[in-house]
Amino acid sequence: MQAQQIVVLATGGTIAGRAARAGDVLGYRAGEVGVAELLAGLPAPEGVVVTGEQVAQVDSKDMDFALWRRLAERCRHWLQQPQVRAVVVTHGTDTLEETAWFLQRVLAPAKPVVLASAMRPASAPVPDGPQNIADAFTVATTPGARGVVAVCAGEVHGAADVRKVHPYRLDAFGSGDAGPIAYVEADAVRQLRPWPAPPESAGLFERVAREKQWPWIEIVHSHAGADGRAVQALVAAGVQGLVVATTGNGTVHAALEQALLRAKEQGVPVVRSSRCLEGPVIAQSRDALPASPLTPAKARVELLLSLLA
Ligand code: ASP
Repeated sequence: MQAQQIVVLATGGTIAGRAARAGDVLGYRAGEVGVAELLAGLPAPEGVVVTGEQVAQVDSKDMDFALWRRLAERCRHWLQQPQVRAVVVTHGTDTLEETAWFLQRVLAPAKPVVLASAMRPASAPVPDGPQNIADAFTVATTPGARGVVAVCAGEVHGAADVRKVHPYRLDAFGSGDAGPIAYVEADAVRQLRPWPAPPESAGLFERVAREKQWPWIEIVHSHAGADGRAVQALVAAGVQGLVVATTGNGTVHAALEQALLRAKEQGVPVVRSSRCLEGPVIAQSRDALPASPLTPAKARVELLLSLLA
């Protein structure tokens, strides 16, 4: 019988970061250490072969559509192989939540796709990356695990809820009021709630793979003193969709709202998403602009995919 396999797709990030001085945990360059070095010395789960593939070597703040497409293609390629039990993606923390939602929507994987990251570079005296990758292997081989999840500091977060909540703390991710899906304790997973069900994704991967020019979508913020000038400028420049990071439960400054309604009349779809750290917008039937339960960055991914359709 063929051995089961975990494929690690490396994309860069702090987990692959290197500093000129070992003690420097801030002044490093993300995306320097190759996948072979990342995996060296990490034990594979029993009966599983771990292989690595370098998909990219970027600081995830610079994530772009071309790399998302390539990553989705490589994930899909490996997930289709019967011997592959799971894919682990090493990724920077900055845009991890967007990549997580993008992959969950486009791949809707029945197998686990586990995003592993780190807050300290690989060159740190005590890096957190190796433990996070080891925890990702534990999740990857947990019976019943499925879908795109992020593993960091012993917590397992689902793609829909995960967000970066801290600029430098080791446990940099949270799932808001939904909470994590599970904890990794030693080498076992303690599950708190169900693994995310695959979303409806028929034809989405093919559309993403086909499209060379992805829609231009921007996020605008509602805040004290907001006005409509940025929206007017964006519409004049040809923006194809707008997400508004709203105050509270989907509320928008009146001056900004007027400009957004005009943009909508001109054919630019507008979606509201709350800038609150926790909880979805509860939409009401009299709302003039649709609301998303996702964070603004993920609502942008969602709008982008809906426009590709
Ligand atoms: N800027 C880094 C990145 O997102 C931060 C990190 O990985 O923690 O690639």
